[in-house]
Amino acid sequence: MATHFKIDGLKAAIEGKEILKGINLEIKGGEVHAIMGPNGTGKSTLASALMGHPKYEVTEGEVELNGEALLEMGVDERARAGLFLAMQYPSEITGVTNSDFLRSAINARREEGKEISLIKFIRQMEGKMKELEMNPEFMHRYLNEGFSGGEKKRNEILQMMMLDPKIVVLDEIDSGLDIDALRIVANGVNAMRSEERGFLIITHYQRLLNYITPDFVHVMMQGRIVKSGGPELAERLENEGYDWVKEELGIVDETVGQV
Ligand code: ADP
Ligand code: MG
Repeated sequence: MATHFKIDGLKAAIEGKEILKGINLEIKGGEVHAIMGPNGTGKSTLASALMGHPKYEVTEGEVELNGEALLEMGVDERARAGLFLAMQYPSEITGVTNSDFLRSAINARREEGKEISLIKFIRQMEGKMKELEMNPEFMHRYLNEGFSGGEKKRNEILQMMMLDPKIVVLDEIDSGLDIDALRIVANGVNAMRSEERGFLIITHYQRLLNYITPDFVHVMMQGRIVKSGGPELAERLENEGYDWVKEELGIVDETVGQV
């Protein structure tokens, strides 16, 4: 089935404060959507609410992934349904190696008795790590522990490649990357582009979008998508900042949206 992801009127709050004020977004297989916006506008909140982070309370709206009601699922079920989130700040887990983590994540998505064989898993992981120019020793390191910012981001992309999700949400995957790492990460994403998969790329800077050309660009401000367009919109934001969008829309009350 062709991937279809639909966010409908999504509102979410953190500790009683409404952050997302009605997000509407539709992503079809094969499409890359970028969300850009100033700091503090709710971009990461959107990612976390989609993934089911307990701190973020969804107060209204619906999210559908291939006809299934995502918001009614637990975090594990969402992942099994094909949602993948690369977090802005990936967590470190001591005592669990990178390879153990990935293998159980893959097997959790499979039926019992159909687990991936160890040999096949290692071969795949080695291949992907090579593509991402990661040192093979990272296989046996504890998950993200002591990884540099850039290493964590590559590791998120490694997980994405291994898990083969239907909808990929990347939250500031470009932050903290030097230009070589940025290119490697972007190549990893581009290699995963396919008709079966949709992407939501959240970024503060246009830079990443020089390497991953989006089909649609959305501007998020104060918990809403206030403007949508094509790749040219990202370029204009890079050159002119966000002020012209605010002026155009008459946004003055900056209760959310300030650094
Ligand atoms: P962005 O990713 O666009 O920079 P966020 O979604 O991280 O924005 O944050 C949106 C707003 O929610 C900000 O005002 C931020 O301070 C607040 N916020 C985000 N996460 C938390 C949290 N865990 N606890 C309290 N407030 C939060
Ligand atoms: Mg953020």
